[in-house]
Amino acid sequence: MVLSFEDARHVVERYAAEVQPGGLEFVALGESVGRVLAKAVTADRDYPPFRRAMRDGYAVQAADVATVPATLEVIGEIKAGADPKDIPSKVKPGQAVGIMTGAPTPDGADAVVMVEYSWLEGKRVTITRAVSSGDNIAPVGSEAHKRDVLLEPGILLDYSALAVAASVGQENVWVYRRPVVGILSTGDEIVELSAQPGPNQIRNSNSYSLAAQVQDAGGEARLLGIARDDASHLRELIAEGLETDLLLLTGGVSMGKYDLVEPVLAEFDAEMFFTGAMIQPGRPVVFGRVQNKFFFGLPGNPVSTMVTFELFARPMLGALAGLKPRPLAFLHARLKTEIRTKTGLKRFLPGVLSGEFETSEVELARWHGSGDVASTARANCYIVIPPDRERIAAGEWVAVLAK
Ligand code: AMP
Ligand code: MG
Repeated sequence: MVLSFEDARHVVERYAAEVQPGGLEFVALGESVGRVLAKAVTADRDYPPFRRAMRDGYAVQAADVATVPATLEVIGEIKAGADPKDIPSKVKPGQAVGIMTGAPTPDGADAVVMVEYSWLEGKRVTITRAVSSGDNIAPVGSEAHKRDVLLEPGILLDYSALAVAASVGQENVWVYRRPVVGILSTGDEIVELSAQPGPNQIRNSNSYSLAAQVQDAGGEARLLGIARDDASHLRELIAEGLETDLLLLTGGVSMGKYDLVEPVLAEFDAEMFFTGAMIQPGRPVVFGRVQNKFFFGLPGNPVSTMVTFELFARPMLGALAGLKPRPLAFLHARLKTEIRTKTGLKRFLPGVLSGEFETSEVELARWHGSGDVASTARANCYIVIPPDRERIAAGEWVAVLAK
């Protein structure tokens, strides 16, 4: 089963929607960034808890300054954090109270005039711009009511989520356990970093790029080493990999005589959901399941491994980590230099995004095919080329996947 890119992605998304994340952990808020929230964060009181002034200026009755200039009597001043006993009990017609951003608005006042539109002389202030009732005051509970859910389970705890948790006093938060992802490289030509490669051998880079991607996607990588192109060795390591939450294999899924991943997985009674996608790099990508464990067979070419992880393995790993599903989102940028390709496959080619502020431009990174890791390391995105396009002219808008 070789599917279009979109169909293959949808298959992964469908299965991802069914998986359950693992157990929970209670972690210090300061250590929770990048984790997935497992229990809702709720408001412990109304927000704001008092009628909060949003500007430095004067708390007034708006009706008093409907026509300006208007001169009012200043009866006091309220600082942020002011003690309730230091707050004037009531602002009456013709009166104003000096007020600072973040301070409680006194009774009687229904608007705050910005200090920029005032003129103070002794105990009298002249207001030079009219305000309407409610201006520059955040009413009690306007942001949230006590017990409202502010953060839903399944969100990624980023800096703004941490601000919310901190503001309601959560020193600790419940997060999902990180899924353990087994990473198995395959191939007789692949050697570990500690070994000196022979003349026809290459070092294992895929286990390291995948481990980094796994970590970035909220998982914990478990390196299972390198399986030789030998069915019994591969069988042994796959069995070990199926003990983890998700198994990623790299290499051994093409059409070569020693590409043994699919036949060995078949011995485990694997269900195969697809055995290829119409993409480049990464066409031979495999997705399936052994009992309740999902696995991906990612093509061994290093750039294929990276791209197919991003396109297919990441959403499954996200689901195992407890993340609510998110659609794959593309940026758009103007193509800087013409691209010519062959039709038939959707391409995700390493690109360099440049330009400043709102004018993004993109061009292909100079690369020499799916094995060229150095040029991929210089790239900062993948340019998406639809399967029906032979030529894309400079200046056209193209879809871009951030790296
Ligand atoms: P395969 O998918 O096994 O046919 O491998 C495709 C290409 O990727 C071959 O040139 C392999 O040598 C290379 N390759 C496979 N696995 C790795 C790995 N773990 N690290 C670096 N390159 C690899
Ligand atoms: Mg191989």
